[in-house]
Amino acid sequence: MRIPPLIDDMERQDSGGLTAMLHTLRMCAANHRIPLYLVGGPVRDVLMGLPVRDLDFVVEGDAPFLARHVGSKLGGHVVVHHAFGTASVTLDGDRIDLVTARGETYPHPGSLPKVNPGRITDDLARRDFSINAMAVQVSDDRERLLDPHGGLSDVTAGVVRALHAGSFVDDPTRIFRAARYEQRLGFSMEPETSVWVGQAVASCCVQSLTGDRVRHEIERILHEKYPGPPLMRLAGLGILSQLTPGLDRLPAVERLMGWPSQADPMIYLAALVYPLAGSRAEDLVQRLNMPNSWARVVRDTVRLRELEDELSHPALANSGIIRMLRGISEDAIRTLVLVSHSSVAALVLQEYLDKLRHIGPELNGLDLLAMGVSPGPCVGRMLRELSDAKLDGSVETIDDEKRFVREALVQGGDRQVG
Ligand code: ATP
Repeated sequence: MRIPPLIDDMERQDSGGLTAMLHTLRMCAANHRIPLYLVGGPVRDVLMGLPVRDLDFVVEGDAPFLARHVGSKLGGHVVVHHAFGTASVTLDGDRIDLVTARGETYPHPGSLPKVNPGRITDDLARRDFSINAMAVQVSDDRERLLDPHGGLSDVTAGVVRALHAGSFVDDPTRIFRAARYEQRLGFSMEPETSVWVGQAVASCCVQSLTGDRVRHEIERILHEKYPGPPLMRLAGLGILSQLTPGLDRLPAVERLMGWPSQADPMIYLAALVYPLAGSRAEDLVQRLNMPNSWARVVRDTVRLRELEDELSHPALANSGIIRMLRGISEDAIRTLVLVSHSSVAALVLQEYLDKLRHIGPELNGLDLLAMGVSPGPCVGRMLRELSDAKLDGSVETIDDEKRFVREALVQGGDRQVG
């Protein structure tokens, strides 16, 4: 069947690097009689009338050759991975990805697949869902849709359908992907696919995945415009609790969903782990092989939740708040402002972000030295005492600060202040 003339449309909409790359790529493929196909997400999105984000091409032939040709003709930056037969070209900030058509087999469940060169039909058959297993041949002028797995009718019906019964056992990351597409597109899982997902979850298939692979899929969910619904869906499917017990309790994610404009991935990560006990959170950090930036947010969120009661204490001085929050990541603090079960703690944290953390003495270290404070650690300690006094309201103006320092020097002479 014919579909909307997508390449022409894209070329009309874009006057930059993308147009030039598309044009050169198609010319080169046509001249060398290399079949070239747009595949996966962009085809799905064009058929749904959604904006296209990334362009992925499959080549029945030498993808790196085409990429180098486009790169050398236009001066784009080419990256080739020979082992995978893949290449990308970047020009003026736009990027296209080219893959040599391949089929794949799974040596054992959850492993990365073994790939062999193949035809476009092999390449489509290895994909996750019918809606992602369509291609449009773009190396001749008549753009034809290849849809061997019924993707178009599933797009029309709003259905996420896996291609075969073993799909989720072969690659359990597809469970995360199914939830992501379903919730992003407003689709539902096709009933048989739902059964296959249930069977794969019941067999604890997620255990076969490396931490990096699971984390990568979670990261993609956290970067969705609305990460809440796919996370809730995964919790309902029973897969999150297989990563660490308790991860399927999502009260904080639910609360965050009440703030629809809040889509910061790190805030969602923090909300996801908010209810976890410290040891469970640590298990998750290890299980997902988290980079430091994630691990810090996870640990600080759990730590901050443990401090909620103390933060809500009416007698807590501002200087005490500052001491408690010293070194805690801002993402964790911002998250608790939105999701903390203690409204008092949330207010305290908001005040910390808006006001308290900006309060400090006007005098600096040089001023203190000039006033007679001994060089070395005394300077730092005096600055901290000044800060606390200012936070707690006993010092306001710069004259108050000077008086405070003079009094400290008189009381202690050249003592180690503090
Ligand atoms: P998005 O709209 O989120 O960018 P996409 O469809 O471009 O989605 P990618 O994760 O970039 O998704 O993958 C590109 C294509 O590769 C998918 O459309 C799908 O056909 C295929 N694919 C990706 N991951 C898998 C997988 N785990 N199993 C099978 N096919 C996959």
